[in-house]
Amino acid sequence: MRFWGVRGSIPTPGPDTVEVGGNTSCVEVDIGERLIILDGGTGIRLLGQRLVAEPPRAATLFFSHVHWDHIQGFPFFAPAFVPGFRFDIYGGKNLSSTLSETLAGQMNFPNFPVTLDQMASTMVFHQFDDGRLVDLGGGVSVRGLMLNHPDGVYGYRIEHEGRALAYCTDTEHRDQPDAHVLELAAGADILIYDAQYLPEEYDPGDGRPGKQGWGHSTYAVGAELARLAGARRLVLFHHDPGHDDETVALMERRCRDLFPASVAAREGLVIDI
Ligand SMILES: [Zn+2]
Ligand SMILES: [Zn+2]
Repeated sequence: MRFWGVRGSIPTPGPDTVEVGGNTSCVEVDIGERLIILDGGTGIRLLGQRLVAEPPRAATLFFSHVHWDHIQGFPFFAPAFVPGFRFDIYGGKNLSSTLSETLAGQMNFPNFPVTLDQMASTMVFHQFDDGRLVDLGGGVSVRGLMLNHPDGVYGYRIEHEGRALAYCTDTEHRDQPDAHVLELAAGADILIYDAQYLPEEYDPGDGRPGKQGWGHSTYAVGAELARLAGARRLVLFHHDPGHDDETVALMERRCRDLFPASVAAREGLVIDI
């Protein structure tokens, strides 16, 4: 797997974020001939540049949800414009529109000069229902469960030959450990978890308002969930736009005190499972 975008909320280019990277959520998972893409934040543009340099192929995209930072790279995903590429695209339906309507909507006049219809690849949309298991063939399966985020979000678990990866971003913890995160991450080789806030940002503890209710979590909760789920490795993901490289490194060090097999996601990070 390779991380193409690890930032939350909005891209953050600049000298203070150059080591972690400024692109928003996009993760590539390669399993033999199968290519799975998790989210279409601005990081997907870079993945697309690589794919168009290769012969057209099929890939499966899973969108966690349709907030800007998870879809905004899609209009710049070059292979989507190339005949011969095929994309099976999975995501949930929000209250008012389907995934395809939302992806088309962000490209509507006057916000963008090209429409979704003009993208010449084959795109097949699939609506995700909670708990559904998608069999991608070749022994690869993907299951999704709803997590806790404004407007809804799906976490995913990808399995192949006894290996598992859980992708749980844009989710806020509750008083009790989230049963859906635990289910997706049970015995997983990798848990990718929303670590947008430092615990003291989430709850300053002195009566001042923190970031509770904003739909994101902390490395400390990620460490606890990884331990409870029996996950082998924890990847801290969806970094806050206000966190510079130093802050992300601090978060990583602190998290390793709680769960030693932790790493902060950085653009270009490759993990072999
Ligand atoms: Zn997000
Ligand atoms: Zn979100």
